[in-house]
Amino acid sequence: MPLKLGLVGIGKIARDQHIPALRASRQFELVACASRNARVDGVANFPDLEAMLAGLPQLDCVSICTPPQAHFAAVRTALRAGRHVMLEKPPAATTRQIALLADEAAHHRRTLFQTWHSRFAASVDAAREWLRGRTLTGGRIVWKEDVHHWHPGQQWIWEPGGFGVFDPGINALSVLTEVLADEVCVETAVLQFPENQQAPIAASLRLRGEAGVAVDAEFDFRQKGEQSWDIELITTSGRLKLSQGGATLELDGRAVSAAGGLEGEYPRLYARFAALCAEARSEVDWRPFQLVADAFLIGERRIVAPHFI
Ligand code: NAP
Repeated sequence: MPLKLGLVGIGKIARDQHIPALRASRQFELVACASRNARVDGVANFPDLEAMLAGLPQLDCVSICTPPQAHFAAVRTALRAGRHVMLEKPPAATTRQIALLADEAAHHRRTLFQTWHSRFAASVDAAREWLRGRTLTGGRIVWKEDVHHWHPGQQWIWEPGGFGVFDPGINALSVLTEVLADEVCVETAVLQFPENQQAPIAASLRLRGEAGVAVDAEFDFRQKGEQSWDIELITTSGRLKLSQGGATLELDGRAVSAAGGLEGEYPRLYARFAALCAEARSEVDWRPFQLVADAFLIGERRIVAPHFI
């Protein structure tokens, strides 16, 4: 029997990825949506999560696609109501919130799957395997996209807790922490804040691994023309480049695998969620989030030209 699932926060990612993945899944049945304004055809619609939980006692699980500022309250409500939860990235607005949510899931013996969709990109597993046993000597992340194209009208991204350029940038950090054997810390950071916004539009980070190796990261929301979601890692025995957010892999300049954009990520996420629900097991890894929080803590702040959404 497929698990009955309710989707919360119907916006770009819910429509682009979650709904198609759920409609194609044999492990889940999308039975309801909860959103203040949006409606989805063919399912029960509710104005908020509380109404959905009250109206559908047979719901097994919920998947949360709201912006991060709304995650804590929604996940806590769903877990306390005995539902398994899948959660979009970034996991919450503060690091303490996700720690408390992990405790809450354990307490209620329910699954909290705190997702990093980029870790499910087509070439990430192959990159991690290739790096195993190799010695890293350096690395570079270039994550530059046009915010007007990818986040049209999303004011929440510029508000406190909205992450600004770290909303996509955290995806790069989720892949880096997945493929590297070493842990990394933020050594330095420079954050550029538009004078009229509360979140950075660009950031440069220097990360340092336990073995002393530096990985530099450039995040920018002002990119026009070609977009970049690239991670290059150099080792004593070859060089790796992940592009397209982890979909494409090059080893020593030779393409070894290629997929398009987010292709396959969300079906793989839901397959993992089903496996976790079957065992009431959680998966929570807040290291990418800690790196972003640390960049805000340690970062030099520069004020730049205003940005209008
Ligand atoms: P979005 O287009 O703004 O959709 C989010 C929806 O959540 C809104 O349309 C809104 O629908 C609802 N919502 C509930 N509380 C809200 C609040 N306090 N402020 C604003 N909206 C609220 O955003 P999105 O791009 O889908 O992103 C949602 C989450 O998915 C983010 O955490 C993002 O990082 C993540 N994500 C996005 C992408 C992407 O490509 N866009 C990719 C992967 C992950 P109602 O008004 O109907 O309530």
